[in-house]
Amino acid sequence: MPVLWLSDVDKNDIPVVGGKAANLGELLRIEIPVPEGFVVDARTFRDFINRANLKDKIYGILQKLNVENTEELNRASEEIRKMISKARMPDDIEKEIRKAYKELGNGKEVYVAVRSSATAEDLPDASFAGQQDTYLNVKGEDEVVNKVKECWGSLFTPRAIYYRVQKGFRHEDVSIAIVVQKMVNSEKSGVMFTSHPVTGDKICIIEAVFGLGEAIVGGLVTPDTYVYDRTKKKLLEAKIADKKFMIVRRNGNERVELGEKGKERVLSDNEIKRLVDLGELIEDHYGKPQDVEWAIEGETVYIVQSRPITTIKEAKEEKIELEEAGKILLKGLGASPGLAVGEVRIVQSEKDISKVREGDILVAVMTTPDMVPAMKRASAIVTDEGGMTCHAAIVSRELGVPAVVGTKNATEVLKDGMVVTVDGEKGMVYLGKLEIGKKEEMKSVSVSAPIITATEVKVNISLPDAAEKVAKETNADGVGLFRIEHMILSLEKHPMKFIKDGEIEKYIELIYNEMKKVLKAFYPKPVWIRTIDAPTDEFRAMKGGEDEPIETNPMLGFRGLRRDLAEEMHLRAEMRAIKKLIDEGYTNLGIMLPLIVSPEEIRRAKKVALEEGVPLDQIDFGIMVETPAAALIIEDLIKEGIDFISLGTNDLTQYTLAVDRNNENVAYLYDETHPAVMKLIERTIKICKEHGVKTSICGQAGSYPHVVEKLVELGIDSVSANPDMVQKIREVVARAEKRIILEKLRNLK
Ligand code: PEP
Ligand code: MG
Repeated sequence: MPVLWLSDVDKNDIPVVGGKAANLGELLRIEIPVPEGFVVDARTFRDFINRANLKDKIYGILQKLNVENTEELNRASEEIRKMISKARMPDDIEKEIRKAYKELGNGKEVYVAVRSSATAEDLPDASFAGQQDTYLNVKGEDEVVNKVKECWGSLFTPRAIYYRVQKGFRHEDVSIAIVVQKMVNSEKSGVMFTSHPVTGDKICIIEAVFGLGEAIVGGLVTPDTYVYDRTKKKLLEAKIADKKFMIVRRNGNERVELGEKGKERVLSDNEIKRLVDLGELIEDHYGKPQDVEWAIEGETVYIVQSRPITTIKEAKEEKIELEEAGKILLKGLGASPGLAVGEVRIVQSEKDISKVREGDILVAVMTTPDMVPAMKRASAIVTDEGGMTCHAAIVSRELGVPAVVGTKNATEVLKDGMVVTVDGEKGMVYLGKLEIGKKEEMKSVSVSAPIITATEVKVNISLPDAAEKVAKETNADGVGLFRIEHMILSLEKHPMKFIKDGEIEKYIELIYNEMKKVLKAFYPKPVWIRTIDAPTDEFRAMKGGEDEPIETNPMLGFRGLRRDLAEEMHLRAEMRAIKKLIDEGYTNLGIMLPLIVSPEEIRRAKKVALEEGVPLDQIDFGIMVETPAAALIIEDLIKEGIDFISLGTNDLTQYTLAVDRNNENVAYLYDETHPAVMKLIERTIKICKEHGVKTSICGQAGSYPHVVEKLVELGIDSVSANPDMVQKIREVVARAEKRIILEKLRNLK
C-alpha cells in the first residue's frame, strides 16, 4: 500500500513513515485534533526509484562524489533531482495518491501541505528534521503528485547529501516518506511551550497572532504572549502586542494590514484554556514538555505539530555553570552601549530568527537585514565578525539594544540557552546573570533642559520604522545620514530584480513609502537621503541576488554611486521616489551621493536627477567625502555645484590606512584620529568653508566626543551622531562652542 492514513499510523511505523507522520498519528490516537492527512510511505519512494530504473544511477553518482567539492556536489544534486522530476511515477502509485487526495477533500479541491519526512533504517528520523522540502498551499491532484515528486527529489539537495556523509549515514539507508495534510485556514495561530522552555516548570507559554502561522514562524510579527501557570490554573500574564499585519491564504499567501484590530487580544480565556488542556495531554502522552504549533479555524483548535523541547536539559547544565558567574567568556568591540542579561540564541541564518524571543541574546556570525525583527526582540546582540560600523553595530545602536561585535568566536563559545550578561559599552560577555546597576540600565536619553547649539546636532538613521522614536527621544536637528541600503536589503527581492521583472513602479513605491516615514518623523527638519551604498556580498544574500559578482574585496568594489551609475535605472528609480516626495511638499529632504572619487560622477548623477525632474535648486544636494581622492580634489568637486559635504570617516579611515573596517583582525589599526585622516578632514573643511559649502560629518567619528570637539573648533556646520550619542554630542558641542567664544572674548580684551 503506497498510501497510509495518518489515523492508521503510530510510533511503531517510524521506519516506514518517518517521525513526523508517526508523531501526528500518535496525536490522533489520543484524540488530539490534528488536521487530517495521508502518508506516501518510504517504501513507495524505494519502489519508485527501482521501477523507474533510477536506483543504480543515483547511488552510482553519489558513490563517486567528493562532497567537499561544492561545485561537484551541486552538479550531482542537480542531476539526481532532474532525473527524479523527469521520471514517470508508476501509474498505480499515482492513482493511489490521486484517490487519497480526493477522499481527503470529500471530492473538493482542498489546500494541503506536502511535507517530507525522512527516515533512516533502524533510526528515528529526528536528525533529518528540516532538511527536506515542505510545500504549503498546494491544491489540485496534479499539483499534489508533482510536489510529492519534488519532495522525493529534496532527499538529494546538496545540504542533505553533505549532511549524510558528514554524519556517516549510507545514502542507501535513508529514505523518505511524504505527508499530505489538509491545511487549516487559520484565523489565529501560534506556538506553545507546554512547560517553561528553560526551567521545565509547569508554566505554559503561548504566542499568538491573527491569520496564518507563517507570520510568527518567520518572526515577521511580534505576537501576543500568554503565560499560564498550570499548577495554579491561572493566567499569569497576557502581553498584547501591536500586530501590524496578518498573513492570509488567497491564491497564495497575502499580507493584510491590521490597523486598530492588530492591537486587540488574539486569544480568549477559553481558547487559552483549551490550548493548555491539549498541551497537557500531549506532554503527558510523551512524558516530556513539548513545543507545539497550533491553529484555530472557527471554533476548532488544531494541533499542527509537536516536538519535544530540547533546551531544558541545557538550562539545567547552565544552573551548575552559574556558580562560576562573572567569568569573562568573550571580548569584542562595545558597539552599542548598555547592559543586558538573557539567554543565548545562536542564529545561523534568517531561518532561525523565530528562535529569538523577547529578551534573548541574539548571537550570530554577523547579522543581516532579515534578522532585524529578531534584533528588535533581543535584549542584546553579540557577533563573531564586524567592526563599529557593521550591520549589527549600526542597527543595534538605532534600536537601543546593547551589542558586542567582532568577538571572533561567540557562535562557538556560547551555546543555546546559556545565561549571559552582555556589556555593550566595554565589549564584554560574562557568564551568568550579573547585577545590573540602575544607572547603567537606563537606555534612552532624557533631555532635562534643552541645549541650543550653533553647530547643528543631527542623527544617523537606517531603519525607517525606528525614525519616529529616534526623532522623539533625541530631538535631533535633523538626519545627517539616512542610509537607505538597510531598508532596501530587507525588501522581498534584489532591487535590480524588481527592475528586470518590469516592477520598477512597485520598487519606487516601496522605497518612497519607507523614505516618507523618516521625512515625516523629522519634518520640517532636514533629512539627507543617501543614495544606495551596499557592497555586493550583502546584496548576494537577497532573493534574486545570485547574479551579484563575487569580488575579492567588496569594500573596494561595485558599491556606492559608481554602481548606481553603472545601473542607471536604479538611480532613476531613487530619483523618481525622491521627486514624488518633493511634489508632496517634503522639501526638507536632501540628496547625498556616496563614495565619490571624481567630478564626473557628480555631473552624471546630477544629470539623471534633473532628467527625472528633481528640482535640485529647491533642495540640499551634496556628497560624502569618504575617499582620500575626494578630500584631495575637493576644489574640483565643489566646482560641480554642491550645497554640502559630509565626512564619511568610516570609509575615509579604511581607505587612508588600508584597514578593512569590518575585519576584526586589523581592528587595532583602525583609528579615525590618525594624523593622515585628520589632515584630510581639516583640508576638506577649510576649503569648503572658503567656497561657502556646508560641512558635516556622519561617520562614526561624529559620535566620538574628542573628535567632535576638534571639528567644532575647525568650524564644522553640523555633526550627525548615532542615536545613543546625540545628547552627549550636544553637550560636547555646547561646551566647545562656549570655550571658543570665551577665548575670543579674552583675546578682545
Ligand atoms: C562612512 O563611510 O563614514 C559612512 C558614514 O558611510 P557608511 O558607514 O554607510 O559606509
Ligand atoms: Mg561610507
